Amino acid sequence: MKVVLKHLTKKFPGKNKKSHEEVIAVNDFDFEIPDGKLVGLLGPSGCGKSTTLNLISGLEAPTEGQVFFGEDDVTNVPVENRGVGLVFQNYALYPHLTVEENIIFPLQNLKGAEKLTKEQMKEKALEVAKLVQIEDYMERKPKALSGGQQQRVAIARALVKMPKVLLLDEPLSNLDARLRLQTREELRRIQKETGITTIFVTHDQEEAMSICDLMVVMKAGVVHQIGRPQDIYDDPKNLFVAQFLGTPPINVFTGKVENGKVMINGDDVFDAPGVPDQEVYLAVRPEGFIPNGSRFRYMRERREIMGRDVSIIFTHENALNPNNRAIVSAEENIPEQPGEAFFDLKPAKTFLFSRETEERIRF
Ligand code: ATP
Repeated sequence: MKVVLKHLTKKFPGKNKKSHEEVIAVNDFDFEIPDGKLVGLLGPSGCGKSTTLNLISGLEAPTEGQVFFGEDDVTNVPVENRGVGLVFQNYALYPHLTVEENIIFPLQNLKGAEKLTKEQMKEKALEVAKLVQIEDYMERKPKALSGGQQQRVAIARALVKMPKVLLLDEPLSNLDARLRLQTREELRRIQKETGITTIFVTHDQEEAMSICDLMVVMKAGVVHQIGRPQDIYDDPKNLFVAQFLGTPPINVFTGKVENGKVMINGDDVFDAPGVPDQEVYLAVRPEGFIPNGSRFRYMRERREIMGRDVSIIFTHENALNPNNRAIVSAEENIPEQPGEAFFDLKPAKTFLFSRETEERIRF
């Protein structure tokens, strides 16, 4: 089921009673989530991710705009009739019910032609329990399960009615690092096996990059970029997106373009043919530095050898951050001691952004 947002906007009254300034949590979202995809809503805290999810589920009503499931306008359809499965960060399982009873719970209210017998409900519960690999724990109460297992039960409960759309709000945040990794792979597998259009909220870019078909990168209620994770990483639209994606983060320096060259402190560090003279941010992915070069001067602080790679930790007087990191092959000869040295920059890993608008300058 594809999900289409048309000029979707949600405004909340301001926090301060004296000021009438509204918070625009979601500002004119206008995009389509294709059928059967796993889509991540990604952005820093307060950017409107949960509100977007709540608008799609029907937990919140929009101030303006519409939500479509396929061709159907569901904007005024209440949450219980939208055919969505919901999973939240805090599992929200019923503590006094067993795993099986928790999973069965949403089936008990089905009416008319949809009504199921007890046996049918058990059958369906077992089917989804197998899908999320929790079938051996059906008789346990939630408190006798690990966090990861509880979250699987929550996912099974959301899936048991075979929703048109599965919506997950920070589903992995309460899990420890290892379980988180494992559960995100599980989520990907479950989504692939069911083919249910799945939208999940996360502030963790690595999580989104690793499992999503598509990412919606947001900030302060505004969509900044939508695309496949690798495409966004390779081709960020603006400085915010470039900085938000990637671990270690992109390295950013101030400079200016003069006569088709990026100049930093009088050094001509990079070619920018055809770019009009202006002040810019030069942003370089950690893997974008070629060691033992001749153009980009830096001050090596130390190196960290990590098997295949070597990280060069360096400072630069025009860098936005005190510590910068280049990752190069361990085969490169990188001296251990600190000192001045030069990189060259790989064009595919180096981006220019306007200092004025922070938008990408393409050339
Ligand atoms: P987080 O990652 O911290 O959960 P988020 O990206 O999910 O954040 P939202 O919870 O959607 O962000 O909130 C977006 C903005 O809307 C925030 O400024 C928040 O304070 C505001 N907001 C959300 N819900 C309400 C509400 N019920 N009343 C007033 N303001 C709200």
